[in-house]
Amino acid sequence: MAETYFIKTFGCQQNVADSERLESYYTSRGFTRASVMEEADVLVLNTCVIRDRAEEKVYGMIKSLRLRLKEKSPRIVVTGCLIGAAARVPGGKMMKRLTGRLPDVEFLPLEDVGFEYAPERAPGKMASIVISNGCNNYCAFCIVPFSRGPERSRPLEDIVGEVQHAAAAGYSEVMLLGQNVNSYGADFLTETMKKKEKYRLPSGEEVVPVMVKHLNRHRIPTLFPHLLERVAQIPGIKEVSFISANPWDFSDELIDVIARNENIDRVLHLPVQAGSDAVLKSMNRWYTRAEYLALIDKIRARVPGVEFTTDIIVGFPGETLEQFQETIDLAKQVNFAKTYIAWYSPRPGTAATKGMRDDVPIMEKKRRYTELDTVTFKGKKA
Ligand code: SF4
Repeated sequence: MAETYFIKTFGCQQNVADSERLESYYTSRGFTRASVMEEADVLVLNTCVIRDRAEEKVYGMIKSLRLRLKEKSPRIVVTGCLIGAAARVPGGKMMKRLTGRLPDVEFLPLEDVGFEYAPERAPGKMASIVISNGCNNYCAFCIVPFSRGPERSRPLEDIVGEVQHAAAAGYSEVMLLGQNVNSYGADFLTETMKKKEKYRLPSGEEVVPVMVKHLNRHRIPTLFPHLLERVAQIPGIKEVSFISANPWDFSDELIDVIARNENIDRVLHLPVQAGSDAVLKSMNRWYTRAEYLALIDKIRARVPGVEFTTDIIVGFPGETLEQFQETIDLAKQVNFAKTYIAWYSPRPGTAATKGMRDDVPIMEKKRRYTELDTVTFKGKKA
């Protein structure tokens, strides 16, 4: 009889999409899906490290699963962001700890799964489509450049083909996923620039690199507007959303594409993280408060009815009360439809963990969280 597997997914929509490819990875190897984890021969944990003390939580969870499932005693496989981070956080200590504390667990790097496995989606209206993976930005608080590695974009035609396939299968909504969707294709362009060639956009237009001040290097405008428009115009696709679009690389061309395609979601997620220039700078975010607010105004002027959601971290190292107040003021000014708030906590390998003192006391972080939550959420729907 075929061995059975069960995948337990933690974290964000991108992890959910990764698990859909993991399903194919196992079925193509002759496994069948167990309907509940208690019946599985292989239990796959697709982990998330975005939360505080993620590593400790995985150890605790595996211990309790071993007790709970001791009759069946499944093989346990750990995959996802924890394995990526352990492999890439410099120094190798994290991987050493992981292998030392989990000697009887298999590790599956997501790179071994790749994109060649067609996702096996649950029935429904919405299909998540990964367009890129990883990040090159190294925001000082964020573990993603380690957990997911450098930014890699999937070929444009592969993505369009996957959306067409999803539409033919009855999915009418798609969500395009990447850590920075609006820098989609920047990695293709880098290769081209190395050869000193112009890049031919899908429209036929040839573009040359421009100097990007905050990066201090040359880059070419990204392909995301072209991809988004192609996807929005696929017959049968009634709604397109994307996450996350960062305040950088949000070009005029992208705004135009959103404005002229009414099936693109009018709720845009645009993480600001802080409202103080000094905090943004120490977070290694490449925009100022004024630039963020100007972008919001520009999008509002060109896309009637647009609403914004955001992410904000309170209590970042060195954040003063005045700087926190600037965040409150910015949140009031933008009037976000929804604000996802986190209080700062260190993550392995990040610049903030290595070089900054976590000097805002936890009770003060919680107080700032509550104050911002009250200001942004009272009386509003999620
Ligand atoms: S927060 Fe910064 S480093 Fe983390 S995924 Fe987003 S852009 Fe990349």
